[in-house]
Amino acid sequence: MIHPFPDRSAMASRALGRFGTAGSGPTIITVGGMHGNEPAGVIAIRSVLHYLAQNQPEFRGQIFGLTGNMKALKAGSRFLSHDLNRIWTSPDELPSDCRDLGEEREELEGLHQEITAILNEVRGPVILLDLHTTSAEGSPFMMVDDSQNIDEYKNYFPIPIITGLIDRLRGTLVHFMVHHGHRAVVFEGGQHEKISTLENMIGAIWILLVKLGCIPAHLVPEFDYFKQRLTADALGLPEILDVFYRHPVQADDQFEMEPGYFNFDFVRMGEILGHDKHGLIRAPQDARILMPLYQGQGNDGFFLGTEMTLSDWAIAETDLANA
Ligand SMILES: [Zn+2]
Repeated sequence: MIHPFPDRSAMASRALGRFGTAGSGPTIITVGGMHGNEPAGVIAIRSVLHYLAQNQPEFRGQIFGLTGNMKALKAGSRFLSHDLNRIWTSPDELPSDCRDLGEEREELEGLHQEITAILNEVRGPVILLDLHTTSAEGSPFMMVDDSQNIDEYKNYFPIPIITGLIDRLRGTLVHFMVHHGHRAVVFEGGQHEKISTLENMIGAIWILLVKLGCIPAHLVPEFDYFKQRLTADALGLPEILDVFYRHPVQADDQFEMEPGYFNFDFVRMGEILGHDKHGLIRAPQDARILMPLYQGQGNDGFFLGTEMTLSDWAIAETDLANA
């Protein structure tokens, strides 16, 4: 276990930097630290931007780095009064309609302002990469909202893709971007404080830049290492996990997860997964578990999903279109 960011005052900047030339290719917006107990994303973005600035490689397009919840990062907690990744609820009116958000009002307005400025400045395709970590251990995965092209994202990263989950949440940054016609993906790099998580995140940024044609692979430091890491971590995991269940948690529920669950672990119908003031909480059916809550803050106890292959997904989509 590491504490990768001992000096939290260094998190105090919203804009982490940019690299590339306007109009020369796609725009990639990377965001780290939407949750204040997840500093690894900020460090990963800084690391990539630092390398680019030092080495000035040939580069098509532009990459921007932004910090999410600066106040919560300083405090080392997920959020102060509101989860910054659940309050992008009125995409057309932001930031005027964000009364009563307490400490997070300034964070929402600040991040919204930076993103809007970038979107107003750039031309051509934009993709946002939102970097997160989880309280449970387990392999990295990505999440998209169901309206996006799954095949395209599978092509970016050799790791499981989670569908059906973002659509169960309200007010995420991904929703905001998709609502405005842009692409957006969440990358979950692993457990909050592991060094491997940080490497996964740095790798994810580089892989995305290579896949989008911004930089050739041979100019990326340790590209094969990063790619092999992710591929090896995902061995034996489903191509797609389609989430069908979310266990909601209220602040006064006294929710406690049973110890020892990792992301993607199998659970059996009836298995005791946790308890709260109402009693035991059991799995409603056989499934794989995702993001079991092992930290004080958060409104999602755990998620359950069914594994699918890419061809299952294509068939389901066709059935839906024909229905
Ligand atoms: Zn997060």
